[in-house]
Amino acid sequence: MAASGQSTDPNTNIPDYEYIDVNTKPFHIASFRNEWLSRLKPSDISYQQEDEDAFDANFAKEMGLGPEIMSQLKSVCSVDSLRCHPEDQQPDPEVVPPNSTLKTLVERKKRQDYKASLKITKNRHDLYADELERLTVGRKPSAVADMIPEGEIILTINVYYPATYEKFCYVRPHMTLLMTGSHTLAELRDGICCVSDLQVCGEFSNTPDIAPDFISKDHYKSSFFFFEGVFYNDMRFPECRDISITTVEWAKSRNFPPYSQAKMEETRFTDLKVKVGFPYLYCHQGDCEHLVIITDVRLVHKNDCMDKNLYPLLTHKHRIVTQKCAVCHLFIGRWFTTNDQFAPSDPCLFCDKCFRMLHYDAAGNKLGDFLAYPYVDRGAFN
Ligand SMILES: [Zn+2]
Ligand SMILES: [Zn+2]
Repeated sequence: MAASGQSTDPNTNIPDYEYIDVNTKPFHIASFRNEWLSRLKPSDISYQQEDEDAFDANFAKEMGLGPEIMSQLKSVCSVDSLRCHPEDQQPDPEVVPPNSTLKTLVERKKRQDYKASLKITKNRHDLYADELERLTVGRKPSAVADMIPEGEIILTINVYYPATYEKFCYVRPHMTLLMTGSHTLAELRDGICCVSDLQVCGEFSNTPDIAPDFISKDHYKSSFFFFEGVFYNDMRFPECRDISITTVEWAKSRNFPPYSQAKMEETRFTDLKVKVGFPYLYCHQGDCEHLVIITDVRLVHKNDCMDKNLYPLLTHKHRIVTQKCAVCHLFIGRWFTTNDQFAPSDPCLFCDKCFRMLHYDAAGNKLGDFLAYPYVDRGAFN
């Protein structure tokens, strides 16, 4: 992202660092986009690949070069001229040549040796860590109407684990999402996966089949984002309540600078005034609070995923170890029981299959005396 560096105008819409390498001063996203569009030529933001001959002609004109010099330059700078081995011999790209003086190769050799010394193979999760991004690069929609228009804004948004899990306070982002400027905050909210939304509270040993009817997300729909002094509440459903009002009134009664409120479903990213790199807040299920950091705001590029329907686009997800069933040690735990005569421990975690096989007869009648609570593993979104 571009920072103007020497801007002194406090109302500028060109992002300027407030703290170097940490965050920018607040700027209005739509105005920032307009600043870019007014400076760029249409060909700069076009998805059309520039014709090679036209590019060469423009380059020669700009640099004041004749056709002879131009063709010489092209052959000298050609990728083919970078070859350091005979043409008929294909080198193994994994093998770093011995006694190399090229700094990049020296660094690469160091890294290779370090990795070999670790003696651990990459796990399945690491292997596919970049899979999400790879699958969507340059992807075109099937319908032209779903194409992201040229000159659209793309935001990179990091959502962190809720601070309630202390273990996760210092880890990298839980998920990284790409959003376009015309998306609403409500669409970001729907793109955030958090186990608190799936939690089911209560004891269901007599009626295990109805537990899914009590998923928190369906009952407690209120949530808000907090950006630059404004609470953006989710008010899409009749059950939604304004859960930011407590804070707003608390601040008012103590002569704090006033906070204002808006609806997240009516707010597009282009409407926002934000600081890039600054931690903001997403709160749902009452007190499940996630840090949200916008790390980049830029114009769309032809290598971006072009299909509007694939946004919010998940490009990175942190994965965690899942808790397995105490009986089969294979499937992720779905129930935990207490006071359970069949269980090896108290409490004890079961997958759905083992739980039902052990605790109910073929007709679904409860066997014995125990208490059963639905359990949602934090790795459920792996
Ligand atoms: Zn949460
Ligand atoms: Zn099991």
